[in-house]
Amino acid sequence: MNPLRKRIGVLGGGQLGRMLLEESARYHVHYAILETSEDCPCYSMANQFIKGSLMDELKIRELAASCDVLTYEIEHVNTEVLIQLEQEGKQIIPSPKILQLIQDKGLQKEFYQKNSIPSGKFFLVNSKEEWAPFIPLLGSDKFVAKTRKGGYDGKGVAILNSQEILSDPSLIPFDEPCVLEEFIACEKELAVIVARDQQGNIVTFPSIEMEFDPIANLVTVLLSPARISAELEQKAEEIARNLVQALNGPGLFAVELFLAKDGEIYVNEVAPRPHNSGHHTIEACYTSQYEQLLRILLNMPLGSTDLVQCAGMVNLLGADDFSGNYYLENLDLVNKIAGVYVHLYGKTESKPKRKMGHVSILAPTYEEVKEKANYVSKVLAFKKD
Ligand code: ADP
Repeated sequence: MNPLRKRIGVLGGGQLGRMLLEESARYHVHYAILETSEDCPCYSMANQFIKGSLMDELKIRELAASCDVLTYEIEHVNTEVLIQLEQEGKQIIPSPKILQLIQDKGLQKEFYQKNSIPSGKFFLVNSKEEWAPFIPLLGSDKFVAKTRKGGYDGKGVAILNSQEILSDPSLIPFDEPCVLEEFIACEKELAVIVARDQQGNIVTFPSIEMEFDPIANLVTVLLSPARISAELEQKAEEIARNLVQALNGPGLFAVELFLAKDGEIYVNEVAPRPHNSGHHTIEACYTSQYEQLLRILLNMPLGSTDLVQCAGMVNLLGADDFSGNYYLENLDLVNKIAGVYVHLYGKTESKPKRKMGHVSILAPTYEEVKEKANYVSKVLAFKKD
């Protein structure tokens, strides 16, 4: 089939989907979106919109029936139905079997162990009564607990004090199947985005580091490439590539890594979709993470992931002091600066800490990237309209 005639179905209509649609507009492909409400970032851009839950078998089947290939921009979808559809011959990228593994942080950790992917020590528990014997085995004075399913954006993750939990078990925050992990003392948090096409070719994007900058009002700036040695860069890309090789199927994957203080690199987790840490690739790389996914879905060759310049990215979050209609203050000031690209996700309401947009920044040096990022995050603000 002519790849440009392909109809792509996406489960989820959030900002990651929206940027996939934006980056695909040049190819005039047909997109159908499944999402619970028309009030979502993809609605105005989709060729076809199906309103329904991402758990609803009938709606997912309706989406599948109208498309040649399916993908998803969020992990919380009905994987069982997708697995059935795949067995019935529907093309779904990445495979829902990979998604099923990733949805469960316990299965993910076991997968790393089985495939010799470096990742911290862990134990699996089913209820809070089972925690105590494992806590002393997790090393230092701290450990990390994660619910196996359903967590996102730090929800379902707790960094805990071992002694406190052992002496007062009522402090245990989760009473459901959990992973208890060794706490990794981090030098930096890194991410590597990996694309694997339908032929099995794999490319990696230059690494990203998350910089927590106290001067910039506690704003986190993502920088790429990460400021690490060439050897560490190579190692990070190799670990991410090996992980995706072991997942054994096409797709775009974001591998979150810890560079530990001892110089070792460990996998934290992987996301089987475009990722917040790859937003900058739209302007900063020859081929963005979104276009790369489109190419994979259309069975086209992968593009170059080289960076055009040093890049940064700042998320634009809803202000803490209101919910509702909004405008973005000082957009005009920011738009005067070269190499600064404001992205707004078209959400009708701002809410505290909601991801409303982001700003990508290009410059010849890290210093200039950080200078622009600090300015942007200082002046841009969502205000009540
Ligand atoms: P989510 O899937 O909700 O994003 P993560 O597993 O990425 O949750 O954890 C959120 C954050 O918690 C990480 O970005 C990191 O800062 C911290 N964290 C998670 N696991 C560990 C660990 N084993 N050691 C140290 N810090 C951790």
